[in-house]
Amino acid sequence: MHRIAIVGAGQAGLPLAFGLLDKGYEVTVVSDRTPDQIRGGNVLSSQCMFGAALQIERDLGIDDWDATCPPVDGISFSLQSPDPGGGPLIDWKARLDRPAQSVDQRIKMSAWLAQLESRGARVLVQKAGVAELEALADTHDLVIVSAGKGEVVQLFERDASRSTFDAPQRVLSLTYVHGLTEADDYARVSFNVVPSVGEYFVMPALTLSGPCHIMFFEGIPQGPFDMGRQALTPGEHLDAAKQLLRTWLPREADRAKRAELTDARGVLSGAFAPVVRKPVLQLPSGRHVFGLGDAVVTNDPISGQGSSSATHASKVYLDAILAHGDAPFTRDWMEQTFERYWTYAQAVTQWTNSLLMPPPQYRLRLLDAAVRSPAIASAIVNGFDDPPSFFPWWSDADACERFIAQRQDSVHNAPDAQEDGMNQRFATP
Ligand SMILES: Cc1cc2nc3c(=O)[nH]c(=O)nc-3n(C[C@H](O)[C@H](O)[C@H](O)COP(=O)(O)OP(=O)(O)OC[C@H]3O[C@@H](n4cnc5c(N)ncnc54)[C@H](O)[C@@H]3O)c2cc1C
Repeated sequence: MHRIAIVGAGQAGLPLAFGLLDKGYEVTVVSDRTPDQIRGGNVLSSQCMFGAALQIERDLGIDDWDATCPPVDGISFSLQSPDPGGGPLIDWKARLDRPAQSVDQRIKMSAWLAQLESRGARVLVQKAGVAELEALADTHDLVIVSAGKGEVVQLFERDASRSTFDAPQRVLSLTYVHGLTEADDYARVSFNVVPSVGEYFVMPALTLSGPCHIMFFEGIPQGPFDMGRQALTPGEHLDAAKQLLRTWLPREADRAKRAELTDARGVLSGAFAPVVRKPVLQLPSGRHVFGLGDAVVTNDPISGQGSSSATHASKVYLDAILAHGDAPFTRDWMEQTFERYWTYAQAVTQWTNSLLMPPPQYRLRLLDAAVRSPAIASAIVNGFDDPPSFFPWWSDADACERFIAQRQDSVHNAPDAQEDGMNQRFATP
């Protein structure tokens, strides 16, 4: 039976480690932090995961938080007037066919890493670089690098043909809070777009101290939602978030009035450029290592897809490893396995990148049509669980018009003046 090393104890690497261990493989997991360090560290993500990815965890028997994590039953969308306090121009919501959930990665990864060790995986706590990868490649049949945005992944070559941006498109800022008022009707991700300013999401989640909400700003660089410019204490970070809501999103400000930090490590801010890398790295010795998850496909979190995608990738890789039997893991096998994942991931990347740019007019018509058509709203919301389902209608004007017509004939009579007005209000970041 093959020996497999997985470098990086995150949402991509750990489900793969469980799957391999279950099938009798010898598994080494390399983590740059111990379970206690992960649990006691800063929040890492808003990590909202959708139904299909959660099912992969259930199938592996690692869905340990299904009973305790508050469900996310739907998504609401609002396109705000760009004038501060101007209110929504478009506003709708729809239920997910199956709930999503967000479990603080500090809880999840620390627990999974400890469980893996107790089930027989070898856990090495070290920050792997080239020397460590060489040593692992020497003693294992396959080395998988699932080190997220760690320095080591920069060794994988950027794939210019698949990477749209070379700079961050948003500055990210997370605040984990207790005391935020639940959305009316059903628990959901509230997705608010302020043209030329950025986006604000708020969603229920589970953190170390129990159920909570995550406030998440995506700021266009240098704009009002860009909270990454000053070094703020966690308390100042929360105050700044509330102030932004009061100015730009009064309805969300009301919900956040009594919000308090869950813990002093419940804030995060930063920025990174979305990137697709070549999946295989050749080490100086000539051996190859294989990238997985964010290490090779990093999307902006605007679409909330990174954790789900990492899980889908781990499943594609697991199936490919199991199907490969005792055959050696060649560079060709790695590239073919990645291409299998890319058939899914390219839709995620294309859709996510589209959200970072001002929408074309046909898409504004689609978003507006969803106000009157529950079928359109549902298709958009459930697309978060199945991004390939967005195509072709999300990105092709004719297909989009047909899609709207099939679901709601009356939207052809929607007022063009309002659409034109909305369109003019978006500016390129
Ligand atoms: C602000 C923000 C909000 C987000 N919100 C969402 C969301 O709502 N929904 C969603 O699906 N996704 C979201 N994401 C993205 C999601 O968190 C990631 O896509 C996902 O965690 C990727 O999993 P991964 O295993 O590839 O990488 P990671 O989860 O980053 O795991 C990589 C692990 O490798 C470790 N590591 C790094 N370097 C080394 C090394 N040299 N040696 C050993 N270990 C190493 C790291 O410490 C880490 O533990 C968000 C991300 C951010 C930044």
